Amino acid sequence: MAMRIVVEDCINCAACEEDCPTESISKGEDAFTVNAETCTECEDEYPEPKCEEMCPIDGCVVKAETPHRR
Ligand code: SF4
Ligand code: SF4
Repeated sequence: MAMRIVVEDCINCAACEEDCPTESISKGEDAFTVNAETCTECEDEYPEPKCEEMCPIDGCVVKAETPHRR
């Protein structure tokens, strides 16, 4: 499993990047992006995905299987 970032909601603040235990988040062209290959959803590190917790925008970091809202 992996998280994904809703591109149009991301404000490129980088708050999600610092605490990712697997270094799976990086700056992309229009928004930050999650590497689905390495993201573990923080399974062994935190009770909840850390990036989702750190992101100041509600609904910006969601589980990869969550349908697009728009
Ligand atoms: S869920 Fe955890 S491992 Fe995956 S991108 Fe977010 S902080 Fe990194
Ligand atoms: S914390 Fe949220 S808004 Fe900030 S860069 Fe990461 S995904 Fe984008």
